[in-house]
Amino acid sequence: MIHKKSDAIIANKKINAAELARAQEIITGLYDQLPKYIARGYGPFLAAVYDENGCMVSRAANTVTRDQCSHNHAEINAIRKAEKRLKTYDLSPYNLSLYITAEPCIMCLGGIMWSGIRAVYFGTPSRVAERITGFDEGFKPNWLTEFKKRGITVYGNIEPEMGKKILQDYVRDKHIIYKPKRNML
Ligand SMILES: [Zn+2]
Repeated sequence: MIHKKSDAIIANKKINAAELARAQEIITGLYDQLPKYIARGYGPFLAAVYDENGCMVSRAANTVTRDQCSHNHAEINAIRKAEKRLKTYDLSPYNLSLYITAEPCIMCLGGIMWSGIRAVYFGTPSRVAERITGFDEGFKPNWLTEFKKRGITVYGNIEPEMGKKILQDYVRDKHIIYKPKRNML
């Protein structure tokens, strides 16, 4: 079977069928919830933290425009909620995974690294999100390798078509595309 380039998994580890099934279930569940959040003024991304038993610790959408806060991405909000719930700034002893509807941006890579999250699973790749929305996800050289060095596993491009459709609808419905003005060189 020939895979299109857009089908390619973006990962720094192999996962087994059970892990993949769990990730697909959680991420398609997040995609299912996301339009309801968008309708209530949230940004078009949703993230959730799960423990190793498959129990959800936190879930949060992007609240940049609702909160007037440029760094309130879904990942950051979900990590903040998990830390609050577990009353810690260090999630590393809990062996937690972060599931996201889209690939994390440059800022969220830092947030994930500092949080102690052990595994990241995501849906739509950045290049697809950028093409559809015009968001700038930032420069992320060798991030899969750099995360691997730090013991953070990544597995992404899970059911990307569902995420693609949600982002296309977000743009079609003229929701806010938030990005600072830049003089690009
Ligand atoms: Zn982000």
